Amino acid sequence: MSLAFDEYGRPFIIIREQEKQSRVKGIEAVKSNIQAAKAVSRVLRTSLGPKGMDKLLQGPDGDIVITNDGATILEQMEVEHQVGKLLVELSKSQDHEIGDGTTGVTVLAGSLLEQAESLLDRGIHPLRIAEGYEMACKIATAELERISTRFDFGTGTKEDLEPLIKTCMTTLSSKIVGRYKRPLAEMCVEAVLTVADLERKDVNLDLIKLDGKVGGRLEDSRLVQGVILDKDMSHPQMPKELHDVKIAILTCPFEPPKPKTKHKVATSSHPKSQVDIDTVEKFEALRGAEKAYFTDMVRACKASGATLVVCQWGFDDEANHLLMHEGLPAVRWVGGVEIELLALATGARIVPRFQELDASKLGSAALVKEVSFGTTRDRMLLVEGCPGSRAVTLFVRGGNKMVLEETKRSLHDALCVARNLVRDNRVVYGGGAAEMACSLAVEAAAERVGGVEQYAMRAFADALDVIPLSLAENSGLAPIASLTEVKTRQLTEGDPHLGIDCNDLGTNDMRAQNVFETLAGKRQQLQLATQVCKMILKIDDVIKPNEYA
Ligand code: ADP
Repeated sequence: MSLAFDEYGRPFIIIREQEKQSRVKGIEAVKSNIQAAKAVSRVLRTSLGPKGMDKLLQGPDGDIVITNDGATILEQMEVEHQVGKLLVELSKSQDHEIGDGTTGVTVLAGSLLEQAESLLDRGIHPLRIAEGYEMACKIATAELERISTRFDFGTGTKEDLEPLIKTCMTTLSSKIVGRYKRPLAEMCVEAVLTVADLERKDVNLDLIKLDGKVGGRLEDSRLVQGVILDKDMSHPQMPKELHDVKIAILTCPFEPPKPKTKHKVATSSHPKSQVDIDTVEKFEALRGAEKAYFTDMVRACKASGATLVVCQWGFDDEANHLLMHEGLPAVRWVGGVEIELLALATGARIVPRFQELDASKLGSAALVKEVSFGTTRDRMLLVEGCPGSRAVTLFVRGGNKMVLEETKRSLHDALCVARNLVRDNRVVYGGGAAEMACSLAVEAAAERVGGVEQYAMRAFADALDVIPLSLAENSGLAPIASLTEVKTRQLTEGDPHLGIDCNDLGTNDMRAQNVFETLAGKRQQLQLATQVCKMILKIDDVIKPNEYA
């Protein structure tokens, strides 16, 4: 083996014997797959918990990402190994379904596989291990439900929201934005409750836009009850603030079809498509026609009742000047996603052809305001007071792009947590408390199982300890001592709320520390980790293209 560096300075290991290595099958294959998966999960172990470390990842074109979000780390790592990729997929599915707990699920899967490896060494068949794990997972999830607590946030008063805010704070506490977690958590909860459908118990996160601009401080972040467009009015003399606005959204270009003046001579292949301009008069006539066209367009917009035009495309200075002159403020070059969100929020219909513009297609907003930030020239448009729809925007500020992106990722996690609670309002306690309670339950159940599966179940129980162990280790505590102390207390006191005191607050009671996690998230972690583990245990041969023998 030797260490080499690629053109970006990233180290990689060359294993010279690779070509000579024969393909492994059977137990050897299972073991080598486990090794790969363990290697991936080991990377994430130090990132777990409130004192977890961040990773700095360099992309192929030199851009840098700093994060401790499991899914993002794995996505950026470009894992090559086929089985390693399964773990990447694992964290992605946790991210997709739940949005939080992506580090935990990967660490747990790695630990389950590590335990499985020692069972394989003792001669237990992979399928029996898989079955034992499945049984243990059922017991663990049943235990999770047993120890979970419900809370109500339904009436929407300040005190009622507290548990919801606390849960979001737990998620944010392990991130870079941890120092400012309370206001951010409050913003997330407010955003989610604004768009939530409490009757159907569902939240459409698409209605919450996460936006940000480099500059300013994290403390300047705010929740906007509406939409933010990263654009300014097309002309500096247009009004900066509009009230009771009627908005027309155009996806057709705000200009006449352009004749190409450089094509002076009609060719035989395109005799009709050319405009022949050879005198000043003809040019003036063309300009006049163009201007009339613009004027017609502007008048048509005004006639429909619009007081603001939002265009997907640009328009030239002539049109801009006319718009200003006619007193019709306009915004140009607005992106497709923003157009859709704006249409949703204001109730406007997107108009693809000029002829279709009429009063029924207009959207409305109470206020459209141009805001500038600090000393920078950056200006954005706030569209607030939109009827009918409840779209909101979380607008984040931060010193640089990396912080901004990580803040957005963290807020996304917190939003997902709040959404999960609206869907299912049961919580379990964090800091490894839930895992330890499950571990004890599985261990107790293993006593009652006769077959070989009992070994697998005990292994499952041991594997669950990886969460409290890693949390303690990452917080600078003695891992084994902390684990045994808390676990013994859980057993003797029968209290499933005891966890690792990561922040050294002097109590192990996670209720007192307000470290919640959603039941749905925790259950999903256990189920997904078990599933992927079973899958890896059942693979006894890896076949690559052109390799059949
Ligand atoms: P994930 O991507 O899995 O959410 P995190 O780095 O956010 O990973 O860590 C989550 C883990 O940290 C959970 O097990 C949670 O219970 C634990 N945790 C978070 N905050 C605290 C705290 N203040 N004290 C103890 N444990 C905590």
